[in-house]
Amino acid sequence: MAEILPGVFQVEGVDPPGWTTHVYLLRDAPKSYTVVDAGLEGADDAILRYAAGLGIAPKEIRRILITHLHGDHTGGLARLREKTGARVYAHWAEASFLEHDPVYDGPGSKPPTPVRVDERLSDGDRIDAGGGLIAYHTPGHTPGHTVFYQPERKYLITGDLLAYHGEELALGPEPYSLHLPTMRLSARRVAQLSIDALLTYHGGPRLANAGAALRKLALPG
Ligand SMILES: [Zn+2]
Repeated sequence: MAEILPGVFQVEGVDPPGWTTHVYLLRDAPKSYTVVDAGLEGADDAILRYAAGLGIAPKEIRRILITHLHGDHTGGLARLREKTGARVYAHWAEASFLEHDPVYDGPGSKPPTPVRVDERLSDGDRIDAGGGLIAYHTPGHTPGHTVFYQPERKYLITGDLLAYHGEELALGPEPYSLHLPTMRLSARRVAQLSIDALLTYHGGPRLANAGAALRKLALPG
């Protein structure tokens, strides 16, 4: 069932052929779960099917955390929100673009229709999910890109700040990134965290000793 770390599930069956996206499901408490990113359009069905396989009812999904606006992370968002009644969390800048106010004009796809955001995050906000997460604003890939850090278990959910190409850690998809120098600063900042596991969206998770690869990529010298 792919419980990759205690209370962290990698949702299976969300990808159409040719894609590797990684949606994560976190156990907050009994009967309370959080989904991080919502996959391509139609992924809502796959996420709920996977949850059902674990005995999790739609209404037990209480929160959906969004790393950034791109359509491969938000395609299933509107319907997942509707079907679960979950509250959607995103950085305040990203929230405006998710709501099409204004419509995003940077690289990469945008959500086809506006999606309401319930909780607007700022840098350093703590979220009562997955045993306690800290939201870090990591601009560059998009203006309000945000990663989620679990300090006790030392994992970082990276969105598209970082990605694995095979075994190689790199910045997230560059052609779809707004401003690479800012992205490098964001990577340098999160490289200061104590990290064991990196849960990337493209390329998937690395569960041990991932901090060293991040420091090598992001820190000068
Ligand atoms: Zn992206």
